Amino acid sequence: MSNRTVALIKQLVNIPSPSGNTTRVIEFVENYFKELGVDTKRNRKGGLIATLPGEINDQHRMLTAHVDTLGAMVKEIKPNGRLKLDLIGGFRYNAIEGEYCQIETANGEFLTGTILMHQTSVHVYKDAGTAERNQDNMEVRVDAKVDSAEETRALGIEVGDFVSFDPRFEETANGFLKSRHLDDKASVGILMELVRQVVEEQIRLPYTTHFLISNNEEIGYGGNSNITPETVEYLAVDMGAMGDGQSTDEYTVSICVKDASGPYHYGLRKHLVQLAEKNSIGYQLDIYPYYGSDASAAIRSGHDIIHGLIGPGIDSSHAYERTHIDSLEQTEALLKKYLVSKLIKY
Ligand SMILES: [Zn+2]
Repeated sequence: MSNRTVALIKQLVNIPSPSGNTTRVIEFVENYFKELGVDTKRNRKGGLIATLPGEINDQHRMLTAHVDTLGAMVKEIKPNGRLKLDLIGGFRYNAIEGEYCQIETANGEFLTGTILMHQTSVHVYKDAGTAERNQDNMEVRVDAKVDSAEETRALGIEVGDFVSFDPRFEETANGFLKSRHLDDKASVGILMELVRQVVEEQIRLPYTTHFLISNNEEIGYGGNSNITPETVEYLAVDMGAMGDGQSTDEYTVSICVKDASGPYHYGLRKHLVQLAEKNSIGYQLDIYPYYGSDASAAIRSGHDIIHGLIGPGIDSSHAYERTHIDSLEQTEALLKKYLVSKLIKY
């Protein structure tokens, strides 16, 4: 797996795709599936569904991962020509302080800049360390000779332009991947690679299986539609949350038992654990305290499905993320077994 999956992840994180502006990355995934000869369709909100036929077609399975990321939008052009931001998705300003960014203008041009505290220079500002990292104090310094709102507007920048953060992808010699947006492009890469394996290894799937590449997860409603009435099991593949008290790590697959939305389906969870045990796949069971997934969004929107959530462990999520190739491998291995397993009894 690893080399192909890592190469896909690298390509994915380098395509800017904050929620609300995901067409380019969806095209990338769509072309990949098309080249494999897989049927795809887009939904109206911009997501992508790839479908692999199975031996049984009156019961379906759906897997989802999301390709949208955190980002920002230009809220105001300040009198000094710098940009005030409005954040897209759930994170804090400290997670992007000092980050390089790209501003996409309405005519499709990309301009570069840096996200900074207004009071950054310690030679000038006494409160550089203590001032609050918030919307008023953080701004984008555009890489252009501008120091008035008019001059910035003359570059083509306007309120509503999308701002994306430099992913800074790096793979270390000892197997760590460091990049923004591993949530959830690591999982999208895994699903893309799995679909390739199913097609090229001619693996027979027991049930028709849909792969929903969702594009609005970070804002809460990516994978809650386009679920066929035949769909019995719906598995979200999204990052495992790490931190104090969490069992998730960067070396195993995290099986979520409960998040802020409540418990995931007990039977499906036990099925996933059994598959991991039987196949010596490293896993951790975990509860994510401040988390919701496309699977819980699907349940909330009224779909009568068996829902589950698994994924690679991601350190410092929604900020300077990192995982290890081991976690990608264990996640991919569990998914590969899951794809050919029987639906649970309910
Ligand atoms: Zn996510």
